[in-house]
Amino acid sequence: MDLKVWKDTRIIQAEIDKYLDDGHDYINEAEIWDKLAKNQSPTKEQVRDILKKSLAIKNLSPDEVAALIHVKDPELIAEMKDTALKIKKKVYDNRIVTFAPLYLGNYCVNNCAYCGFKEVNTDAQRRVLNMEEIKKEVEILAGKIGHKRLVVVYGEHPKNDIDYIIDSIKAVYSVKAPTRRGFGNIRRVNVNAPPFSVADLRRLYEVGVGTYQVFQETYHRPTYERLHPANTIKGNYRWRLYCMHRALEAGFDDVGIGVLFGLFDWKFEVMSLVYHSWELEKKLGIGPHTISFPRIEPALHADLSKFDKYRVSDDDFKHLMLVIRLAVPFTGMIITCRESAAMKSEALSLGVTQTDASSKIDIGGYQIAATKQAEETQQFILGDTRTLDEQIRDFAQKGHITSFCTAGYRCGRTGQCIMDLLRTGQEGKFCKLNAVLTFREWIDDFASEETKRIAEPVLQKEIAEIKERMPDLYKKFLALYERIAAGERDLYI
Ligand code: SF4
Repeated sequence: MDLKVWKDTRIIQAEIDKYLDDGHDYINEAEIWDKLAKNQSPTKEQVRDILKKSLAIKNLSPDEVAALIHVKDPELIAEMKDTALKIKKKVYDNRIVTFAPLYLGNYCVNNCAYCGFKEVNTDAQRRVLNMEEIKKEVEILAGKIGHKRLVVVYGEHPKNDIDYIIDSIKAVYSVKAPTRRGFGNIRRVNVNAPPFSVADLRRLYEVGVGTYQVFQETYHRPTYERLHPANTIKGNYRWRLYCMHRALEAGFDDVGIGVLFGLFDWKFEVMSLVYHSWELEKKLGIGPHTISFPRIEPALHADLSKFDKYRVSDDDFKHLMLVIRLAVPFTGMIITCRESAAMKSEALSLGVTQTDASSKIDIGGYQIAATKQAEETQQFILGDTRTLDEQIRDFAQKGHITSFCTAGYRCGRTGQCIMDLLRTGQEGKFCKLNAVLTFREWIDDFASEETKRIAEPVLQKEIAEIKERMPDLYKKFLALYERIAAGERDLYI
């Protein structure tokens, strides 16, 4: 198909208009500024009442979120941190979920000012992996590193359109790679892709995608329009703003939203993320499964000095993670290898639940196993280049268990069901059991001797807790645990 025709047929206006309220979208700029202005000086009592509500795993109101954004008193910040940790413990216990990004192509028809993949960047080396190359990447990810979850990343271009995406996901799922004791495979493919129509999203859902992620980048419309030229597909603010509505309508249970922090005022963006979350709950009955908060990083031919005005300091970044944890207590929070190891470590104590590891973001990067980061083929520069083994060791040293569980998705504990289970603390039961089963599997198949030494006591502590707290499920759990220890794989409750 001619490229212009392809571009001109991407956006279906009726699939935007049907969700509008009297022609208005859900980002009411004036209202957001008003809430931020009115809640600049909350009292201690007000903040403590808000924290009680968060701890009861209830969504906060816009005024309450605005109030938390403005808290500066160190005593109250300490209380916010304490509450965030309690929420994390209540909903997710001491588990952390890991995944790897898999970039399959860097062709793109858009021209986002901050991105190295933009069409006008003629220095970028463009490439799309074919199915055999994809399988080779997955053999390394699932057979050598030990990942069970991927987020597969695509630019917007006919070379990686919906047909390519579907074929590539089938290729990912088809790989079963031998390991030390058993086999490794990818059990959940999440997708970070452009906004699609409902019809395309149905096809994507049917191929077995876990979470569909699209980040708005910035919710501030004038900034959005300045950074995303109007003559590009991405230049259409509302097509992107309503893609999660379409995904949920198409059958997806799990959707992931996010902001690229540093493009505009972080306070406005946090409020907008929360408004997006409420809108999805109100209109579609399901909030976002995850929220991501990448900070802008250097990229080839993307002059970051233009973004200095809204650069998010480390202190503000920690504060915004805290506010998100408290505002939407049941939602998963993802921090990526854009951030340093030290920041990721702090994020864990603020309630973050997922992170990537051993990440390569250049096309074919896992095969290249580049010793240096290849600027010409990657979207931005990474802050944390540690291996999965090193990160898991670090988590274990802090008492966290790494969960490779993908059972919830495969037994229907997703969407509204998972939200209810998370709100009531019930999901924790299944997660704890499956975290231990999958961690046993990972240690036996992939852990270095040093990591085994540190991770094994964490695992044994979890088993002791299961025995004590879940006597009804312990026998069933133990039977599966012993089968995994004997070399069987992919067993779950
Ligand atoms: Fe393309 Fe995404 Fe980069 Fe924009 S951010 S140029 S849409 S790859």
